[in-house]
Amino acid sequence: MTLLDYPGRVACTVFLSGCNFRCPFCHNSELLDANTPGIMNDEELLAFLKGRKGILEGVAFTGGEPLSRKGLPELLARIKELGYPVKLDTNGAYPDALKAVVREGLVDYVAMDVKNSPERYAETCGLPNMGYRAAIESEARCDTGDGRGAEPEGDSADRSVGVILAGTLLAKVAESKDFLIEAGEGALPGIPAIDYEFRTTTVAELHDEASFRSIGRWIRGAKRWFLQPFTDRETVPFAGLSAPSAEECRRYVEIVRPYVGEAFLRGE
Ligand code: SF4
Repeated sequence: MTLLDYPGRVACTVFLSGCNFRCPFCHNSELLDANTPGIMNDEELLAFLKGRKGILEGVAFTGGEPLSRKGLPELLARIKELGYPVKLDTNGAYPDALKAVVREGLVDYVAMDVKNSPERYAETCGLPNMGYRAAIESEARCDTGDGRGAEPEGDSADRSVGVILAGTLLAKVAESKDFLIEAGEGALPGIPAIDYEFRTTTVAELHDEASFRSIGRWIRGAKRWFLQPFTDRETVPFAGLSAPSAEECRRYVEIVRPYVGEAFLRGE
């Protein structure tokens, strides 16, 4: 149960395994493999939700990357039949799947990650040979003794694979971003207006003022954006990452504010 994951609602959070990103600051790294055994199957989840009608006010899907899961639309349709509003978290890498669930009215609220400026997207989402991911794949990775890696000293010598992937991936994320901005305005024929937010988990080692100037320009016209300061925990794949100070976070919010309808520091 969560009072935080679905704005304004007492909801339950459903964690789906599988993700195509490898963000160095990920809180749910144990869920990235799509073959991670579940603790409930679809039927058990539906029975759980049936038994809590009148208590829960919504269902929030997170992960992992929920849109990477085959059969998600069918599961969402059955949850909607029970009368639950659905919130979906996404990294934006599956624009076609996103458009389909919005078009079919299977989600009521979308929270999409905007990981960083386009210039630093690849290292922030951990693409191969880029930044932190390079350190995972490199023998030079520094073991900090707690099973996690430390901050890399530099990028891999061969960045070409990462650069190609970055362009492809960024185009997909941009397609999702543009879709939400337009669908949020009710500007797309045949697509129901969707409520949404963008959010950026902010890490001192990955984000600076230039990042937020670029993010602001990139999401210009968006309805709502949150800055979420990074918090460390044991499941984060890299040790040594930190959040910017509260003062820096407030400054970053002010940088983005002129470009969007609303800009918030999550938790304030
Ligand atoms: S933080 Fe990154 S790696 Fe972790 S689930 Fe989200 S998109 Fe995937």
